[in-house]
Amino acid sequence: MSKFWSPLAGSLEPYVPGEQPKDKTYIKLNTNENPYPPSPKALEAIAAAADADLRLYPDPTCDALIQEVARCYGLSPKQIFVGNGSDEVLAFAFAAFFDPAKPVLFPDITYSFYKVYAQLYRLTPRLIPLDDEFNIPVGEFTSGGDHGGIILPNPNAPTAKLLPLADIVAMLEANPDRVVIIDEAYIDFGGESAVKLVPDYPNLLVIQTLSKSRSLAGLRVGFAFGSEELIEGLDRIKNSFNSYTLDRLALHGAVASLQDEAYFRETTEKVIRTRERVARQVAELGFRGTESRANFLFISHPSIAAKDIFLRLREKGVLVRYFASKRIDNHLRVSIGTDEEMDAFIAALRETV
Ligand code: PMP
Repeated sequence: MSKFWSPLAGSLEPYVPGEQPKDKTYIKLNTNENPYPPSPKALEAIAAAADADLRLYPDPTCDALIQEVARCYGLSPKQIFVGNGSDEVLAFAFAAFFDPAKPVLFPDITYSFYKVYAQLYRLTPRLIPLDDEFNIPVGEFTSGGDHGGIILPNPNAPTAKLLPLADIVAMLEANPDRVVIIDEAYIDFGGESAVKLVPDYPNLLVIQTLSKSRSLAGLRVGFAFGSEELIEGLDRIKNSFNSYTLDRLALHGAVASLQDEAYFRETTEKVIRTRERVARQVAELGFRGTESRANFLFISHPSIAAKDIFLRLREKGVLVRYFASKRIDNHLRVSIGTDEEMDAFIAALRETV
């Protein structure tokens, strides 16, 4: 605690991002990045944007990108918000829609940033424990009660499990006066998106990102889809922070990426195929895992501690994440890399278990 810090700064427990080693020799399966490069069209657009007009401020309305997102997802531009990565969109959404006087509901376990934002905005989380199979107990989110809103990822992180759309509809209908935020960071790897529900539910906000299925984690672009009322709420918060938000490179790269549907399909299908193959191989090595609909596996070994496996893999040049706490007992989270990277992971694992 520093005497210069405000009580708020002193009270925070900031999020600790996954390790980004400088040493490029690691096979990096620890932060759910896409192993394939972004669309070549996005790279061209970013290079062209860097050549032209970088001395000028970007368009504060992000109009061209919003138009492209609207076209891509079949919504009106007024139902779309864009931000600097979905983490920023999430931060704005917490500020815009959750009332500090009431608890905000989210699953436990889930994306650990939610707790950090709750702290930052002085919200009280009401954590809803998963069942023994890591399922979200949907009934806890549909039984009314005096709460201030709901947020959950679908698929959930780090469990990789998907909720069917019918469960999201049940949550929306049970909470017509509260905002339900569905964080779809991983939806393109085999889930059914709730974006199609946006026209019917004014209380639904869906958040997506270009970081995972579009291979643009370094560009920092995220979206929200919702009723005009909700998008206006996000704009109020955004314009109270930083009226430019996205830089010129991000605006141009994001548009070109969204236009390259064929490349997007090809690379996401490759990730899914590799995931299914690796899921079978780790099962053959004795691991148990959830059924993943994301670009990572959530697995545990019945007799070897996750931390030990993590350390042994690390020695062999393969970086994964491990969880070994009261909240998440003895699990590994392994991002899906290229086929070659996953072959190396399996080979290293064989020598480990
Ligand atoms: N939501 C979830 C569930 C995530 O796992 C992540 C990535 N760690 C994000 C949001 C944030 O992604 P980004 O800010 O790169 O869009």
